[in-house]
Amino acid sequence: MNANFASIMPQVVATWCEAKGHEVTLTCYTGFEDLKDELPDKPDLVFVSAFTQAAHLSYALSNYYRSQGAVTAIGGPHARCYPDDAQRFFDYVLGFTDKDTINDLLSDCAPHRPIGMHLHAKAQPTQLPGVRERWKFIEATLRKAPAIKIVPMLGSVGCPYTCSFCIDADVPYDPLDLDVIKEDLRFLMTKYKRPKVGWHDPNFGVRFDDIIQAIEEVVPDDRIDFIAESSLSLLSEKHVARLAKVGFKALLPGIETWNDLGGKSKTGSTVGMEKVRKVSDHVNMILRYVPYVQANFVLGLDTDDGPEPFELTKQFLDLCPGAFPAFSLLTSFGRAATLNLDYQRDGRVLAFPFHHLNNNHAMNVRVKNYEWIEFYDHVIDVTKHACSSSMMWRRLKANRPSISGGLNLIRSLSSEGNGRIRFYTDIRRRLTEDNGFRAFFEQESTALPQFYIDRIRDDLGPFWEWLPEGGLHHDPHAYLRSQNAEALVQVAVKGRDRVSTGVTLAGAPYK
Ligand code: SF4
Repeated sequence: MNANFASIMPQVVATWCEAKGHEVTLTCYTGFEDLKDELPDKPDLVFVSAFTQAAHLSYALSNYYRSQGAVTAIGGPHARCYPDDAQRFFDYVLGFTDKDTINDLLSDCAPHRPIGMHLHAKAQPTQLPGVRERWKFIEATLRKAPAIKIVPMLGSVGCPYTCSFCIDADVPYDPLDLDVIKEDLRFLMTKYKRPKVGWHDPNFGVRFDDIIQAIEEVVPDDRIDFIAESSLSLLSEKHVARLAKVGFKALLPGIETWNDLGGKSKTGSTVGMEKVRKVSDHVNMILRYVPYVQANFVLGLDTDDGPEPFELTKQFLDLCPGAFPAFSLLTSFGRAATLNLDYQRDGRVLAFPFHHLNNNHAMNVRVKNYEWIEFYDHVIDVTKHACSSSMMWRRLKANRPSISGGLNLIRSLSSEGNGRIRFYTDIRRRLTEDNGFRAFFEQESTALPQFYIDRIRDDLGPFWEWLPEGGLHHDPHAYLRSQNAEALVQVAVKGRDRVSTGVTLAGAPYK
């Protein structure tokens, strides 16, 4: 399925570069191909777009291409979250990126070493090339997808909600051009008999009537299958019925926790079992209209304490067997959210290498209200409950004979279900048997357990040799340091006679 989750921005950057007259090759690496066979020879400029999980591979690729004389740039979530670290290994590091940002880079296109240049637009772009313009890159990417091919589309950027852990919480909500969206939907119906569209909006349907009306205008009922991530607060029965009528087949609401974030799930200040009942009624209502619902949870939030949050999740699953639960371990991705400053200030961020920051393999925030072993016991228990044979059977029955039921079964049996139980059980065992392993988790030692290094080496394969010196480790407090340095520089700039000291202060440690 991985090619179906390919991001939109690499296709956008490729389109903008082509429009400037450049010859462009776009490679979507899904994790299974022999990457060396996929890479173009002797490019002048290489853009990498990566999540933090792929940071080490990105650093290795940059090093490899720089050795061949190319200039390199990185964008995407990793560049937004860890710009200072990425600047060590790329000539350009891109934050918010619009067409002007790319044009500036193309005009300059020079090596910036040892520290790369940080470029960013003032805000997220609100105009992007649509599906028609990106089509050649979409088509090439989806050739790698199996029978199911999901075309990525975007109806908006940002989110009006303020979930403290989320990278989109500080990004103002902006809808994209509805005329482009309508034209893209018409275009897609000429390309596939029954297209499938995955909306990449952080929160689909904030301006519900506008976007749904645009879809209804051009798409005959149930002619395209749609998938979207949306808050429960936006999914009233009236809205869900309209979504189902136009063809929505999968919705992914975020529940996150039973003790907080009532705004997005429309449960207000209700917490605990009462919230479980309200949310399960809501999700069961959605399942009467839409065959596939994935309920997202974050495990280890500071508001959770004791066994209760996990027991409540199990009760929710019993009340809502048709929903597939997706669990993420709380992870602090550098500058993704201002909340991360608190974790860094409190000394709670563990220096797990980027490669393991995929919301599951490592939890890089010391959990507030649990001992590590106790926490992993709860995580294993709730995951086992979600993937137990009785739960799978109940889920299959609730999903009726459908693709959704099959997909849920595969997810439960695959690395996402049983694979995670095995992984968490192994981590728990190491925590009890290996003092060095436990000491790293308890922040009594900074020595990274060999287990994590070996996994990176295995996963990087031949690119391990290209991982630049110092690339394995990063400063987990870089965000806090930069904030304090900026505050000091501001103080220096205010008192004009001290301006010159500002530069020195910018490098001062944060304590
Ligand atoms: S509702 Fe979703 S997208 Fe919006 S801030 Fe919360 S987690 Fe992020």
